[in-house]
Amino acid sequence: QQVISVQQLNKHFANNHALKNVELSVTQGEMVALLGPSGSGKSTLLRHLNGLVCSDKSAKGYVEVLGIPVQKNGKYCASVRQSRSQTGYIFQQFNLVTRLSVLHNVLIGALSRTPSWRSLSARFSLSQKRQALAALKRVGLEQFALQRVSTLSGGQQQRVAIARALMQQAKIILADEPIASLDPESSRIVMEILRDINQQEGIAVVVTLHQVDYAKRYCPRVVALKQGEVFYDGPSEQLGDNS
Ligand code: ADP
Ligand code: ADP
Repeated sequence: QQVISVQQLNKHFANNHALKNVELSVTQGEMVALLGPSGSGKSTLLRHLNGLVCSDKSAKGYVEVLGIPVQKNGKYCASVRQSRSQTGYIFQQFNLVTRLSVLHNVLIGALSRTPSWRSLSARFSLSQKRQALAALKRVGLEQFALQRVSTLSGGQQQRVAIARALMQQAKIILADEPIASLDPESSRIVMEILRDINQQEGIAVVVTLHQVDYAKRYCPRVVALKQGEVFYDGPSEQLGDNS
C-alpha cells in the first residue's frame, strides 16, 4: 500500500529550478533516506509532502500522502489538513516550546491530531498524560517528563520531538535533517529510535540526510537528489560511498 505518491513535481524559486520532474512513491513500512548535498532540493521535496511548500502553478505536479491528496497543479487540496494531522514532522532545530515541560511538548502532539481551537484551551486528560508518558518512555526520556525542554541536550530534544509525533499517532514520519545539529552519539541514538519505530510500529519514515554513511547504516532505501533531480532510487547497499 502506497503512503506517498509524488508525480511530475516541479518547483522554481525565481530562476532557480529547485525540483525537476520529481517522482517518488513510498509504500507502508518503508524507511527511506532522501540523500544529497546542500541545495539539492531535499528539504523542498519533504516540505511539499506536508504542504509547507506548493509546487509550480503552471505545472502538473501531484502529491498524495496516506491516500489523501495534498496538492495538485500548483494548488493545495482542501484535504491537506487531514493528511497533516496524520503526518509527524521532525525538524533540524526540533521546533519545541522550550519554556514548557517535556511532557507538555509531547502533549502538543495530541492537539495536532484533533486540530480545533477548543482543544487548545481544554485540559489534557489523564489518559492523554499516560499516553504522553508512554511515548516518552519509548524514546527513553520518561525521567525528564517534568523538566523544562530548555534543560535538555539537543539529542534529547530531538527525541522529545519524536515522542510528540508518536503522541500524534502519526502514520508516517517526515524528518528534515534530524541529526544535522547533533553529535555522532546523539545522531546514532536518534536514527536508532527512528528505525525502531519504523520496524516495530510499521510507520513509514522519510528522512533527509546529507551523509551517505548514516543513510547506508539505517535506511534500506535511498533516493538521491542532485540539483533537484532524482539520480538514484534503490537499495542503499548498492550506493557508492562517495556518491
Ligand atoms: P537541501 O535541503 O537539499 O539543502 P533545499 O531544498 O533547501 O535543499 O534547497 C534547494 C534549492 O532551493 C536551493 O538552491 C535553495 O537555495 C533553494 N531554496 C529553498 N528554499 C527557498 C526559498 N524559500 N526561497 C528561495 N530559494 C529557496
Ligand atoms: P535547509 O537547512 O532546509 O536546507 P536552509 O538553511 O538552506 O534550509 O534555509 C533556511 C530557510 O531559508 C528555509 O526556509 C529555506 O526555504 C529558505 N531559503 C533557502 N535558500 C533560500 C534562498 N536562496 N533564498 C531565500 N530563501 C531561501
